[in-house]
Amino acid sequence: MVSSKREEENNACDTRPLALPVNQNKYPMNRIITDFKLDGQGDWTAILSCGHPQHTRHRPPFENRSWVLSQDGRNSKIGEILNCVRCDDFEIPSDFVRFKVTPEFSEDTMPEGLKNNHQTGSGIWGKIVVLEGALIYQIKSKNINDELSPDRPGIIVPELSHSIEPRGPLRFFIEFYKRVADRE
Ligand SMILES: [Zn+2]
Repeated sequence: MVSSKREEENNACDTRPLALPVNQNKYPMNRIITDFKLDGQGDWTAILSCGHPQHTRHRPPFENRSWVLSQDGRNSKIGEILNCVRCDDFEIPSDFVRFKVTPEFSEDTMPEGLKNNHQTGSGIWGKIVVLEGALIYQIKSKNINDELSPDRPGIIVPELSHSIEPRGPLRFFIEFYKRVADRE
């Protein structure tokens, strides 16, 4: 469908978005603030439930968030919602690692449940890797209906309902990613 990102296609470890053009996204991805961390520049960053960081700097007069400077202020914002543009871009958080991979499936052996709407839990990302053939990756809430192939993996966003449908003979597997510190 879109071939503008083909130059990224061959790096299996690349967690940058491959499958889904940004301009197809219709709805913001609202995420809960779960934590705060200082970045390398000494600026406060909210950690969201998807795993992405988002700056919450106090830099008056342009960014006024004096609450971020105190522990109490930060604690008071835990549980609040921010729109995560990195989720809209289907970007697996850079510090996430692959912790699980499914067996290889064919159009005959794939779990039927994958064809119905389903979703991963909070903070769990995935990548659909097609080895042979093609499948349709559908995210109804975002009006996305994308054909995945060996040079076009699909990124699974946490808590975002989706389904897949084989398009003829097929071999594929799914990788799952989460934050390293959460690894068992
Ligand atoms: Zn996010």
